[in-house]
Amino acid sequence: MNLILLGPPGIGKGTQAEILSAKFSIPKISTGDMFREEIKRKTQLGQDASSYMQRGELVPDSIVMAIIRKRLSESDCRKGFVLDGFPRTLAQAEALEKITKIDLVLNLSASKKELIERMAGRLTCKGCGQIYHLKHSPPEKRGVCDSCRGELYQREDQKAEVLTKRIEVYEKQTKPLISYYRNKGILVDVDARGSSDKVTKNVEKALGAFMKAKTRRE
Ligand code: AMP
Repeated sequence: MNLILLGPPGIGKGTQAEILSAKFSIPKISTGDMFREEIKRKTQLGQDASSYMQRGELVPDSIVMAIIRKRLSESDCRKGFVLDGFPRTLAQAEALEKITKIDLVLNLSASKKELIERMAGRLTCKGCGQIYHLKHSPPEKRGVCDSCRGELYQREDQKAEVLTKRIEVYEKQTKPLISYYRNKGILVDVDARGSSDKVTKNVEKALGAFMKAKTRRE
């Protein structure tokens, strides 16, 4: 199953992608995580991506396509994958179509106010990348990851000013993908308001409906 999670920054794509990855035993592929990893390793690619990321802008398509093309050619992607944060532009979606077939796009949505509120409380583990929320899913011990005991921090690009810019970029460059995939008949809308458990239930419902329709068609 080749899945895409579409939605604005802060909607919780990463958390849901993690759950789908475990459920279907397929890799979660997050271009954002891949860039952060390159930055951590101080590679040229990381350096190239970092200034765009700090400003809340998109990394150029050519850089993104090079990294994703390589990742999708790895053997663990043969049985499927869940894409989180890719594609983000029409050019990326068109290029992706030439690489592989997408089965389903889950379009997560919520109000702008809710996004900013949610993002402002989000904490990420420096060690394993696990995501927490001060209010909705706090760690047992303040500032410490439950899984690996790593230090929790707030990502630079999740602070209010950069976040507003990222939402603007989403509206302009990524939102057109909703009608692009809807016109192909492979997009399902998911109500992503509320707790992540609630959103997971909505994702499961959407997936269930898609599977049923698929079986009927076959
Ligand atoms: P994310 O973790 O998915 O929110 O991504 C963090 C940042 O990485 C974004 O704000 C962009 O600067 C960059 N980025 C991640 N994925 C892409 C993509 N598919 N296209 C362009 N830039 C991206």
